[in-house]
Amino acid sequence: MKFVSTRGDKKEWTFSEALEQGLAPDGGLFVPQALPQISWKDLNQDEMATCLVNAFVGAEDPLKNKVDSIIERAINFPLPVTQVSDKLSLLELYHGPTAAFKDVGARFLAQAYGALGREQTILVATSGDTGGAVASACDEVKSLRVLILFPENGVSQRQRKQLTCWGKNITSLAVKGSFDDCQKLVKETFAQYAKKLTSANSINIGRLVPQMIYYAKSAKAYFEEHGVAPHFIIPSGNMGNALACLMVRAMGLPVGRLTLSCNANRPVVDYFSSGKFTPRPSVKTLANAMDVGNPSNWERVAWFVEHSGSFLDDVEAFSIEDEEIKHTIKNVWAAQQRMICPHTATAFASWERLHKPAHAIAVATAHPAKFDDIINPLIGQKVTLPDSLQKIDDLQENYEVIDASLEKLFAILQQ
Ligand SMILES: *Cc1c(COP(=O)(O)O)cnc(C)c1O
Repeated sequence: MKFVSTRGDKKEWTFSEALEQGLAPDGGLFVPQALPQISWKDLNQDEMATCLVNAFVGAEDPLKNKVDSIIERAINFPLPVTQVSDKLSLLELYHGPTAAFKDVGARFLAQAYGALGREQTILVATSGDTGGAVASACDEVKSLRVLILFPENGVSQRQRKQLTCWGKNITSLAVKGSFDDCQKLVKETFAQYAKKLTSANSINIGRLVPQMIYYAKSAKAYFEEHGVAPHFIIPSGNMGNALACLMVRAMGLPVGRLTLSCNANRPVVDYFSSGKFTPRPSVKTLANAMDVGNPSNWERVAWFVEHSGSFLDDVEAFSIEDEEIKHTIKNVWAAQQRMICPHTATAFASWERLHKPAHAIAVATAHPAKFDDIINPLIGQKVTLPDSLQKIDDLQENYEVIDASLEKLFAILQQ
């Protein structure tokens, strides 16, 4: 399997090369030349994960014989499907160390870098969840050095803890400025030090591919139990999680319809009604990890549509605004004593909107405790922290405050 750029550069890259580069040299995103078909019926659940990832890691790739151990170390927590009601199930992706689905991709990426044995510096700007998942994942891989930039006053106390409580190979920098300032610093530093740095953001192919594992496994298990290909309802922002599901379906696994649940950020929703994709400035919502006005993975989706006309067949998208998110969090608590995060609430709200509900699996992307400031007042209860987050809360913070200037960052990089 080889990877190419979405922007038409004809050069071919291996999985490891695509993983280490992040972005293609022409500025495009890496995509697999073609999606292989998987003969899934005879695979057991463990074989499924290996087989799926191996379909992307070619025979000549240095990671070839390391896929099993990477998966084993990266996905060392459960990804269960639980029953909500007669026809609705929940795929719980929040049992990892930072209690959100980004743990899956971040941990796979970190372990893959570790298996490649390179000494690497990863630079990330974060406004919350991604940085925590990356820091936690890289804490275990000592050949990696990580620099995390976050806005000094732009993250919650618990989010800051998740960015600043790690080992010596993780340097956390609170920037006197906004998230945009952090991103600007990262961009300028990459321009200067491109050869020495790597990124770990969600467009990296090493985060996308492992996310396919939980869709393949849960779809197969569901199909075997219920005799129908499940309909997935996926909270979506940058479209990385949903893209993994679309790819799994295109590879022949038993996935039925897809419903993309967006918040008030509507470019994807408007695409399905108008046929045109128009990026917009992002708007702030309660489901803040989905506050994306220009989903970066859309470039991949468009590439797949161009190369396989049926890629987006049987897909629809809904926009769920804050009032409906709040209402859904309250209703689900009242009806089922179930606490859900604001992102997961968009999936429950979408389920309510579907006219003839088929068998569906809604995706729960974060643990409610990550958003207890929103949920506690709505349900009049305190969300209890899962052990993973409690552990982080008990650790010591360690970070440096810096001005939003390149000088200081360059100095730290050169240490
Ligand atoms: C990142 C994130 C999302 C959105 O996922 P995308 O891959 O960006 O579409 C949804 N929910 C939570 C909790 C997230 O952290």
